[in-house]
Amino acid sequence: MNTDPRTHAAASIQHSRQVERLVRGQPTSDGDGVKLTRVLTQPLQKRLDPFLMLDAFGSDAASDYIGGFPDHPHRGFETVTIMLEGRMRHRDSVGNVGLLEPGSVQWMTAGRGIIHSEMPEQQEGRMAGFQLWVNLAAKDKMTAPAYRDVPPAQVPVVTLDAGVSVRVIAGQALGRSGAVSRPTTEPIVLDITLPAGQAFDCALPAGHNAFVYVYGGGVVEVGGEAPARVESERMAILANDPAADGVRLRADAGLARPARVLLVAGAPLNEPIAQYGPFVMNTSAEIQQAVTDFQRGVLAT
Ligand code: FE
Repeated sequence: MNTDPRTHAAASIQHSRQVERLVRGQPTSDGDGVKLTRVLTQPLQKRLDPFLMLDAFGSDAASDYIGGFPDHPHRGFETVTIMLEGRMRHRDSVGNVGLLEPGSVQWMTAGRGIIHSEMPEQQEGRMAGFQLWVNLAAKDKMTAPAYRDVPPAQVPVVTLDAGVSVRVIAGQALGRSGAVSRPTTEPIVLDITLPAGQAFDCALPAGHNAFVYVYGGGVVEVGGEAPARVESERMAILANDPAADGVRLRADAGLARPARVLLVAGAPLNEPIAQYGPFVMNTSAEIQQAVTDFQRGVLAT
C-alpha cells in the first residue's frame, strides 16, 4: 500500500456541515441479475449534482453476483467502480481489459459512447464494492471514451492518529492528491476507516454538494454540534452551508470494529439532466440520438 509514513494530526475545521437528510438505499438488481442496493437514486440527482447514482453491492452468495454485467452501453458521464472484495473482469469497445481486484478503483469516462462488460472472475466467495456515476458537463459529454485502472498500491493512504486512515481515491484531502483528479466536477472520493470513538475532520469546498455513506462498523456521528447518528448502510446528505469549511465525522465509542465510510463531494454542473437507462444527456433529443446511435451500432465507434 502507498501508505504515508508520517502520522498526521487530523486537520481541524472551523465549522462542520450538518446532515440535511438520511437516505436508506433501495434493494434492486441490475446487469444479469446482480443484487445491489441503489443508494443514490434518480430523484436525488439534482440535489447531489454532479453525482447521478451510487450502487452498493456486497454478498457472499455467488447467485447474487455470478451473472455479472454483460455488454451494455453508456454515454454522457463517468463510472467509478470501487472494489472492496472479489474480482471482476472489465472489457470494453475501446479494447481495454482490466481486472478489478480488492482495493482497486476503475474510472471510466463513457463520453460519446462505450460498450463494456464487468464479469465476476470468481465462482464463490464475497464480492463487495460500489459504483458511482459522475456526470459530465454538456461540453464534455461527447468527448472520446477513456478508461483507467487504478491498482490498490496507487491509491494514496493517509494514516492519522489513533488508527484513522483515509484512502484518497479522487480529489485533494489532507494535503494529498488522490489517485484520480477530474476537471469541472472536481470530485472528492474518500474511503475512511474510523476506529471506535475517533473523529476525522475533512475540509470540503463550500460550493460542493456532498454526502457520506456508512458501509460498515456501525454508527457514525456526522456534523458539528448535535451531530446526526448515521447507521450502517445509510447515506447522509450534507447540508450546503456557505459558512461551513468541511465535515466532522466521529465513530460511535461503542463500536466493536472500525466504522467504514465513503465520503463523496463534487462541484455541481447546474445543467439539465436527461436520463434513459445508461445514457445521461441534457435534452430528450440527445437521449433519442443516443438510442438511435446504439440501435444502428455506431454509439461506440
Ligand atoms: Fe456499465
